[in-house]
Amino acid sequence: MDNLKSLIREVPDYPKPGILFYDITTLLKDTAGLKGVLDGLHAKTAGLGIDKVVGIEARGFIFGPALAYALGTGFVPIRKPKKLPSAVERMEYALEYGTDVIEIHKDAVEPGQRVLIVDDVLATGGTAAAAAKLVEKLGGTVAGLSFVIELDFLSGRAKLPGHRVDSLVHY
Ligand code: AMP
Repeated sequence: MDNLKSLIREVPDYPKPGILFYDITTLLKDTAGLKGVLDGLHAKTAGLGIDKVVGIEARGFIFGPALAYALGTGFVPIRKPKKLPSAVERMEYALEYGTDVIEIHKDAVEPGQRVLIVDDVLATGGTAAAAAKLVEKLGGTVAGLSFVIELDFLSGRAKLPGHRVDSLVHY
């Protein structure tokens, strides 16, 4: 996956001083890069018996639907508050300073369905853990969580105990 790593742009001090931002737009625009990342995500998840792919706003919407298409499943968005028009479940989670909220439509996942959660980056794991709880609130089983990039030094997978976690590129 070193070829994928070479296509990810590292932007220092974005969005604020001290943060090194991993920019996937340079990977997405590259023909072999886009194919490589989708083939990589598919290879890690094809045997998991996934019924539904759930993507986290916003960059989970880039990879989620393409992966769902490859796996032959439907796609469900998890969104920031007040974006979904019908009845929702919500989950609040802690940030470094303050809290954030994500929402899912109540009828998006059926009880017993095997769900794959997708996002671009696993950082502290707060967002992914909240997404997993939302899926479980609806009665779904989290069969796995897939990321393009995992920031190992932030130990995000420690917030996802008992879950299968796959990432293509590690920093
Ligand atoms: P977290 O809840 O800390 O795991 O953060 C997850 C979200 O923040 C992911 O959806 C990423 O899109 C974004 N994110 C966090 N850190 C970075 C980073 N260094 N570079 C790019 N995106 C990041």
